[in-house]
Amino acid sequence: MTETAPGIVIMGAAGRMGQMLVRAVCDSGRARLAGAVVRAGHEWVGQDVGHAMGGPAMGVAVSDDPLEAMARAQAVIDFTTPETTLETAHLAAQARAVHVIGTTGFDAAQIERLIPASRHSVQVRAGNMSLGVNLLTGLTKMVAAALDDGWDIEVVEAHHNRKADAPSGTALMLGEAAAEGRGVTLPEIADRGRDGITGPRIRGHIGFSAIRGGDIVGEHDVIFAGKGERIVIRHMATDRMIFARGALQAALWGQGRSPGAYDMVDVLGLAR
Ligand code: NAD
Repeated sequence: MTETAPGIVIMGAAGRMGQMLVRAVCDSGRARLAGAVVRAGHEWVGQDVGHAMGGPAMGVAVSDDPLEAMARAQAVIDFTTPETTLETAHLAAQARAVHVIGTTGFDAAQIERLIPASRHSVQVRAGNMSLGVNLLTGLTKMVAAALDDGWDIEVVEAHHNRKADAPSGTALMLGEAAAEGRGVTLPEIADRGRDGITGPRIRGHIGFSAIRGGDIVGEHDVIFAGKGERIVIRHMATDRMIFARGALQAALWGQGRSPGAYDMVDVLGLAR
């Protein structure tokens, strides 16, 4: 590893994705772990991050000061909570660091509040950082554009029992792609959560269902249900490392790029 390799800070280093990201950066040979940040008062503060994760030392002490960590870095990868990501966006803008946002569960107002920071730093945000899901998104848009609204679109997702938000960021990304394929916007036609006497399904709506249980990493089906036939496009994630690798790729891709808001379609060079 050269000293010139981009330095990367991991926000929320003690989390499920945070630990994956620490490993992905250290194993990549293309980037340097410049910081590992946890919440103030967390028991890991001051420990070597490798030891805190139960392995060999990595030579980086865990910190609770994101700005100080970012001063030594070219990128910050952030899979935390919407509130924390909003704060990190301002710090990344000050430090002119690439901000890779994997966090999901933002509401529309929070997404608006991310915009000012993207005028000063490269921001890459995606509800799913894997190559497979980003391909699935493109396929979903294509199929939705090819079929009329006599085909009912349903997005079904399954995740582990600790997940905080529903539908998942990926499910919403897929719903948006389907809506775009039909030339409408998702909020007009989204059915999020059905219960009780819901009446017949409304033609043209896109439905969402969420399953929560065990240690499911992430599964997404986009169902196009027509008369007498059904198309199902499925992605199954079996290892969180796919998201960590995608996030690292985004952090490297962002180096030297003009400030702005980007997503994984840009990073992976996929057709829109
Ligand atoms: P997690 O709860 O295991 O980890 C989140 C971590 O962030 C926790 O350790 C928490 O203490 C930490 N954190 C929160 N606020 C902080 C702060 N102010 N400073 C430092 N650390 C802070 O959750 P997870 O499963 O790792 O998921 C995190 C987020 O990433 C969720 O929104 C999830 O939906 C999303 N996610 C996205 C993708 C993707 O590809 N985009 C993939 C998996 C998960």
